[in-house]
Amino acid sequence: MISVGILTVSDRVSQGAAVDKSGPTLKDLVESKLGGTVVVQEVVPDDVGEIQARISRWADEKRADLILTTGGTGFGVRDVTPEAVAPILDKNAPGLSTAMLVASLSITPMAALSRPICGVRKNSIIVTLPGSTKGSVENLQALLPVLPHALELCRGEPGAGEQTHRRMQAASGHHDCGHHHEAKTKTHHQHHHHHHHHHQGRALDQQMLSLDTPVALRPRESPFPMIGFDEALSIVLQHAQRLPAEKRRVDVDLSGYYLAEDVHAKEPVPGYRASIVDGYAVIASDGVGEFPVVSGLLAGPGSGPELELTPGKIARVTTGAPVPKGATAVIMVEYTTVVSASDDGKIEHVVRINKAAHEGQDIREIGSDISMGERILRKGEQITPIGGEIGAMASVGVSEMSVFRKPIVSILSTGNELVQHDSMEPLRYGQIRDTNRPSLRMAIESCGYQVVDLGIAPDSPEELAAVVRTGLERSDVLVTTGGVSMGELDLLKPVLLNKIGARIHFGRVALRPGKPTTFATVTSQDAAPPKLIFSLPGNPVSALVTFYLFVLPSLKKLSGSTDPCLPKILVTLPERVRLDSRPEFQRAHVSASYDSTGMKLVAYTTGGQRSSRVMSMKSANALLILPAAADSAAFLEPGTNVEAYLLGPLDTAPSRSPGTHGLS
Ligand code: AMP
Ligand code: MG
Repeated sequence: MISVGILTVSDRVSQGAAVDKSGPTLKDLVESKLGGTVVVQEVVPDDVGEIQARISRWADEKRADLILTTGGTGFGVRDVTPEAVAPILDKNAPGLSTAMLVASLSITPMAALSRPICGVRKNSIIVTLPGSTKGSVENLQALLPVLPHALELCRGEPGAGEQTHRRMQAASGHHDCGHHHEAKTKTHHQHHHHHHHHHQGRALDQQMLSLDTPVALRPRESPFPMIGFDEALSIVLQHAQRLPAEKRRVDVDLSGYYLAEDVHAKEPVPGYRASIVDGYAVIASDGVGEFPVVSGLLAGPGSGPELELTPGKIARVTTGAPVPKGATAVIMVEYTTVVSASDDGKIEHVVRINKAAHEGQDIREIGSDISMGERILRKGEQITPIGGEIGAMASVGVSEMSVFRKPIVSILSTGNELVQHDSMEPLRYGQIRDTNRPSLRMAIESCGYQVVDLGIAPDSPEELAAVVRTGLERSDVLVTTGGVSMGELDLLKPVLLNKIGARIHFGRVALRPGKPTTFATVTSQDAAPPKLIFSLPGNPVSALVTFYLFVLPSLKKLSGSTDPCLPKILVTLPERVRLDSRPEFQRAHVSASYDSTGMKLVAYTTGGQRSSRVMSMKSANALLILPAAADSAAFLEPGTNVEAYLLGPLDTAPSRSPGTHGLS
């Protein structure tokens, strides 16, 4: 049995001016959640002596294993509970205080104004909870997972609480071989096994990421191994397998698709002998001289076969128009003069040819641009937005062909603090505007992919799981932002693992910005290809940068690209750049600069590179690929050439003076 004493510390309650609410609420909580029995419960004023008298008596007489106080922990003049408790403790337990603070700070920044003191006197654990009912409950809840074990240890029973402790160790992901408890007990074997397992397969213990693990027992460091950027990208690409082919009509919505088959010309181009210039169809061997101009040899487009040009005659033709049968060359109008014409000048009778032509001059023979049946595009080639490929198909009568399906991408922002970006309401304390969805949506759609907008999900495992399922049903790739760092509301990884049954391939990458970038896949029962899930960090810059680094290449690969990585260019730094301890992708604006030595691509960084600073992505059209700083090299000096990923056209951003850049 766990015996509990509850001490309400309040001038007003002790005077009868207020009713004690937190005392009874704590009693309920202790009994229902801790299985404890409240053996003593009192109210005292905010008075050091009174508080000390109760606590030391309850502890020294071994009446209560656990002594909870509520009230007097704030900044009020009369608040003295911590001052009363601190001197009578045998041992301080700052971990308990920290656990409480961490938990309640995640709920309200006001928690910073609580000054809890926890510790041990004799065999009793003493915890000072805030006076508000809500605060006291939240604080105690933060300790519920650890209290049973702590109480067992305090009683001094040898070997006590091993069970609990082992659970804690598993949860923390620590494999401290030297730990005094583990070393000399039967848990050694199990412990060893655990250790081994961790090293062997990098397999993630589901338990480590259990949604039930309370915040204080969560790993303090991500249990995911930190992997390098190259490795992470290659894992992503390995799982991004080309989607199946589909038949499509040749139309302008095919931009960006990759061909799933060779395309052949169904017609020759040109389909008739055509003139390359405006001038006169001639028989080349007729040479220079004056010739009667015949008309009516050519009917208009779409009419029947033409009459034949005979020697000694010429016929007027226009660029691209058919040349009469029998003609062997066309003479440009510039090499001719009119000899006689009708009075109104509308009909030419005789024209002088001033320059002899060679056979075939200025005539495009049938199929000379594209021959009938010629392969005009290969399987795997892209129908680019530049327009050349659709033009080629259009010109030869290809009306339908097979392309690889493009992935549909769903996007989801997560976080209780988020508000729709265009909300007219003033922001409430702690709220921020959802920046990631508009950014990602624009980026994904501009890259030619269809987006399913899943909106904003709150930090709740159930709601997240539901909306993730919807996303997986409606798309091939799900991109979430937020909820992947180390806060207790960072639920994406545990939700993916425990509720969605996803395989998390990596959850941490040595890269800046974007360290917690997470990649998972879900395989369905049928033979359908696995769906990809990218859980990107919440900070807007990290989200957009990691979209370009990981998501976009995977979208291209799914679409059928065999070269899905971002284009790399070599740029020159005009200013000194500080290197980070992690490999970094600094945002930069690259433009072409010409001087006497030729052309250079010059890259100005976009200023302060903190990952929350959205303005570091503004005007960026490239990501500098910077190595981690070494002792010998903390900076890159002006004039250094570095590689960069090109995100967009070179002419996008404003032209501006270098002086406004590189601030950080
Ligand atoms: P998280 O990983 O969820 O803790 O998010 C990291 C940071 O990014 C926090 O400051 C969040 O408030 C912020 N954040 C998360 N999602 C968004 C979003 N959609 N738009 C803007 N900021 C966000
Ligand atoms: Mg969040």
